[in-house]
Amino acid sequence: MVAATRPHTQTTQTDEAPVRFVGLPILFDALALEKLPVPIQQQIAAVDDCLPQTQCGLCEHPDGCLPYAAAIVTEGEAHNKCVPGGQPVADTIAEILRRTPLDAAPSKWPLDNDSGRPQEVRAIIREDECIGCTKCIPACPVDAIIGTGKHMHTIMTDLCTGCELCLAPCPVDCIDLEPIERDLTEAAREDEEDALRTRYHTHLRRVADQLSDRSNTKPVVSMVEAKINNATNQSIDISEDEARNTIKAAKLRSQIKKLEKQLSVRPNPQKAQQLSELQAELAQLGA
Ligand code: SF4
Ligand code: SF4
Ligand code: SF4
Repeated sequence: MVAATRPHTQTTQTDEAPVRFVGLPILFDALALEKLPVPIQQQIAAVDDCLPQTQCGLCEHPDGCLPYAAAIVTEGEAHNKCVPGGQPVADTIAEILRRTPLDAAPSKWPLDNDSGRPQEVRAIIREDECIGCTKCIPACPVDAIIGTGKHMHTIMTDLCTGCELCLAPCPVDCIDLEPIERDLTEAAREDEEDALRTRYHTHLRRVADQLSDRSNTKPVVSMVEAKINNATNQSIDISEDEARNTIKAAKLRSQIKKLEKQLSVRPNPQKAQQLSELQAELAQLGA
């Protein structure tokens, strides 16, 4: 078996609640983690510590790793659903929570012989085809894409996790995924995951700040922007029906792409039904 990650977390519990659950981005308010009993918070933190922090949503938690960690601990959700984490992460969570080991969820990428995890990839923009629409920027949970309107965009490969979330919003399909080879020590992987978690939270806070700045309201919002809008009980200040339909269609398209991506990894009749309903709703909106 390939080495599991952070196995020490099970034995390092104290009487203190995890400090990093205080002042989380507003997107996580509904989890109310800081109100849970301290031992439960510690278990969630230990599980979250071993998740890859790509925030890809392939575990069926579109808001990322922390909500999945919370669901595993508080709702008894299966601990083998993290696709990029693969078998090492599933085994580590089973060890932390003393659960029966399960086979990891399959990935469309082949397994890396050294890490035992699915092959890592990085996104690359075919820059001569990029139309500079900026739609990929808010989709990136770790702010790895740079560019401005009507100008070519580029991805900072060192920051990219290969989560694939920028692919769906790109209207011209000019983003490719390239396999990469890395030989990471466990310590380096842990540092990287901590940095990715911080970058994601910074991203969420910045989006919330932008949304609270009414002069910054945009006609098309990303999924995370829409969710943060709901969390802050703000409404988008638009008056034209066409603009409303544009927003609704953008949300539907984003949900559809996510469901299509999830279904390509794991069949799920309920999600398939949800997908066809969303497609019908989008078609009706277009009509
Ligand atoms: S599938 Fe993606 S979002 Fe879910 S726990 Fe794994 S890395 Fe995080
Ligand atoms: S650039 Fe794309 S694939 Fe890379 S982290 Fe950002 S959204 Fe994910
Ligand atoms: S979504 Fe695609 S076309 Fe638009 S800026 Fe990003 S890479 Fe370029």
